Amino acid sequence: MKVINAFSIKSKMIALVLSVSGAALLLSALTSLAYQTYTASAAKFNDYEIDAAIVAQTLTAAITFEDAHAANEILAALSVRPDLVGVAIYDRNLELFAAQATDAGINADSSTAGVSALTDGVALPRPTDLKAATVRRLGLNQAVVFAPIVHGGEVIGLLEFRADLAPLVASIEQYAIITAVILVLCFVLASFLSASLQGVVLRPIHTLTDTIRFIAREKAYSTRVSKTSADEIGTLIDHFNGMLGEIEKRDAVLAGHRDELERQVEARTAELQASNAGLEQVVAELGRARDAAEDASRAKSQFLANMSHEIRTPMNGVLGMAELLAGTSLNERQRRFTQTIRTSAEALLAIINDILDFSKIEAGKMELNTAAFDLRDLCEDVSEFCAESAHRKGIELACWLPPDLPRAYVGDAVRLRQVLVNLMGNAIKFTAAGEVSLRVAVVREEGEDSTVAFTIRDTGIGIAAKQLPKIFESFRQADGSTTRRFGGTGLGLAISKQLVELMGGGIEAESIVGRGSTFRFKIRLRKIAENAAANPVQSLAGTRILIVDDNATNREILDHQLTGWQVKHESAIDGLQALACLSAAECRGQPFGMVVLDHHMPRMDGIELAKRIRQDPRHAGLRLVMLSSVGDQIEAGDHARIAFSACLTKPVRQSALYNALLAALGELAEPADAEDPVPPAVRAVAFAGHVLIAEDNVVNQEVAVHMLEGLHCRVTVAGNGVEALAALSRTVFDLVLMDCQMPELDGFAATNEIRRRERNSGGRRLPILALTANAMEGDRERCLDAGMDDYLSKPFTRDRLAEMLARYLPRAEPGEQPASSSVAATRPGEASGAADDEADAAPIDLRALDGILALRRPGRTSPLAKVISLYLAGWPAQIESLRRAVGDGDAEAMWKTAHALKSSSATLGAVRLAALFKQVESNGRAGTMADAGALLGAIESHFPAVEAALLSIHKEHAA
Ligand code: ADP
Repeated sequence: MKVINAFSIKSKMIALVLSVSGAALLLSALTSLAYQTYTASAAKFNDYEIDAAIVAQTLTAAITFEDAHAANEILAALSVRPDLVGVAIYDRNLELFAAQATDAGINADSSTAGVSALTDGVALPRPTDLKAATVRRLGLNQAVVFAPIVHGGEVIGLLEFRADLAPLVASIEQYAIITAVILVLCFVLASFLSASLQGVVLRPIHTLTDTIRFIAREKAYSTRVSKTSADEIGTLIDHFNGMLGEIEKRDAVLAGHRDELERQVEARTAELQASNAGLEQVVAELGRARDAAEDASRAKSQFLANMSHEIRTPMNGVLGMAELLAGTSLNERQRRFTQTIRTSAEALLAIINDILDFSKIEAGKMELNTAAFDLRDLCEDVSEFCAESAHRKGIELACWLPPDLPRAYVGDAVRLRQVLVNLMGNAIKFTAAGEVSLRVAVVREEGEDSTVAFTIRDTGIGIAAKQLPKIFESFRQADGSTTRRFGGTGLGLAISKQLVELMGGGIEAESIVGRGSTFRFKIRLRKIAENAAANPVQSLAGTRILIVDDNATNREILDHQLTGWQVKHESAIDGLQALACLSAAECRGQPFGMVVLDHHMPRMDGIELAKRIRQDPRHAGLRLVMLSSVGDQIEAGDHARIAFSACLTKPVRQSALYNALLAALGELAEPADAEDPVPPAVRAVAFAGHVLIAEDNVVNQEVAVHMLEGLHCRVTVAGNGVEALAALSRTVFDLVLMDCQMPELDGFAATNEIRRRERNSGGRRLPILALTANAMEGDRERCLDAGMDDYLSKPFTRDRLAEMLARYLPRAEPGEQPASSSVAATRPGEASGAADDEADAAPIDLRALDGILALRRPGRTSPLAKVISLYLAGWPAQIESLRRAVGDGDAEAMWKTAHALKSSSATLGAVRLAALFKQVESNGRAGTMADAGALLGAIESHFPAVEAALLSIHKEHAA
């Protein structure tokens, strides 16, 4: 059907006519042929029946009289008929009576009764059953005729003759051929007529199609199709012409609308042009307003930079002087005042930094500085940093880091630290009792790309549900009254949120009022391959450790750490349970090797528990490791009696705990730091070098001079860039501290000049450290571009200065002044100060105690008094082991003991004593015992003076 659909109407019409006429002709030809066949055959058979009846009649006498001869004659007469091929006569018993055949194929001599003599195997009908002659057809071309022979109403025989139908078939075939020829002729005629007549029907359709094509192409809707017939096509043409008329009318209406629209557009365009002119004016005004806003923004940034500079400069004086003041001998009241000045100044500085950060974020200028850092160290540093304030409030602080936490990442460690310090600081600030914990987990790792989640949880006052969504907005505080109770600017969380988002993450909080808050944030960091750490498992594996801590979080942390190191361990929640565990383990024959115990526990504290353990002879070999809070005191007597293997300050760094446990087991060659009676933070730091300070502010000059003196540097001061260049022409310096903003010649120009001179003379490059009170973005780059090596933002602490000097100046032994060094500052125009001989004469150089004094906290026992007690308490045992080593001629034991004594003596300013120990140490290292006895004598004779001086200092500070 699809194929037909693709034909043209002309082809379809011809096909239609031909198929209809063809079918009609064919049907009539076939009908006529069938009729002809039927009538010819019927006439023929009728003839045969009549002939047979007549012949049967003539044979009556011959049969009756059994006259075969007469019968044969009649048959011979019959056989002249061309269409009869054989004739046979049978008697009443159907036995052959006579027969004649013209066809050689017929065997007329067959004589079986009841069977045809003319056709093989054909049974003869009983003559009595035949009422008249009957014809039977044998195949297409022959027929056989039977007729009863009757005489006097009695059947006496049967006549059979066989007829050839070929002439009949031939005449029918002839008729069929003639019919076919007529059929073909009619078909040809029909084709011809349909082909010539289709034009009559199709011509108007073609005319219509051509007109439609023309109208579609030319859009000439005024054209009309001429009508040539009154038939359906004529009606179609009428309707089509009517439709064209409609379209023409619509076109006219549309053209009217278009003209109207054009008129309206013109009118609107005119209006728009007018308002455009107005807009341009507004845009110009807006541009002027934007320029003014940008100017204002620049002015704001400049103002912030200036304000930062202006506030930081006096702050440097306040903080520096307060730090120095705290290092002098003050009575308790004065010390408290000094401490208040320092904490207030630090708080003020924190606020200034927050405002600066906030304005940077607002101006879209906050950028991250990424570098490789150690995530575990950073988290442990933050916990350590926050520990003191937490412990001061009696809050447990826990840092939960999974043992397999990767360490090496690339990210902005400074900003991450800022966020952590802010969240931990808030948690501590808003918690009165209970605990604050930091948990870290790697939540996703795809190649180098890691997402690390931090959770800070506290048990503090909590935040009301309706306030929670607002706390990340700037200047927002959950409850105005908390501001009065706890202080704060409401900027910390807003800044943290922005920083976390800059680091590719997000922050959220949940809280229940009165139960506590949880802050969670995730950031994306790039993980970098780290060197496989030495596997600690071997060394601690096999040890059995009992953890005693009332705080569940701390127990959980220790539990994870020990599990990570494959250490068998159990936990007890208080002293009594611990004692029970120890006894039970003894009874089982699986005693513990070590107890890690908390200092602060309800009912029985760590010291009490340790004493009880020591009193029980069953636990004689048990090692005890004490975990205490910052500032907790363990009486020297208790310490000695209990013999702790190590005392660690919470939160404990994983590496420190691991080292302490190894040391306690005797696995570490070098004892852990915790065993040193002098905490590392208070060991005196000294540098060898001559430092030039270029600084116009007298207070800041004073601060820097004193700090540098405290670090044993020789100092010269220049009041501006010109004076600094003059000083550099006269004297060789090891380092310059260069203020950036100075009258006459600023730090940038002075540095340029110094670098120019170096290039001309080919001299060595002098380290120049920028001192600036500006903390705005780009300051560091400006300093480095000007040729400075590093950057120290004011206000700075002594430790920060020392950290910076350590990168550029060689270290000196504390208490030992290099020959060229002078501790007195040289002001421009003043003669260089004479060396301070007093230090050599006095048994104690008081300046060496600055560092320890700086650690003092209000309301706490002086760390200096504590260090002196430890030193004096340990002296008899240590000097005894030195004596023994000298007596035994054991050079190695001698230098090791002398080394420890040298370091602790120098820390306490016992300069001469330290020098004597140093001599013993170098002799021991060289393997010579030559002067050992004499040196030991000198030490023992000098010690009483040192002891007396230290006792008097102790008395003054222990008060
Ligand atoms: P602030 O300097 O005032 O602490 P933040 O932006 O750090 O400013 O915090 C905003 C407010 O959110 C706080 O004033 C306090 O009301 C609330 N808040 C923050 N952290 C906690 C917390 N851990 N527990 C209870 N309230 C908190």
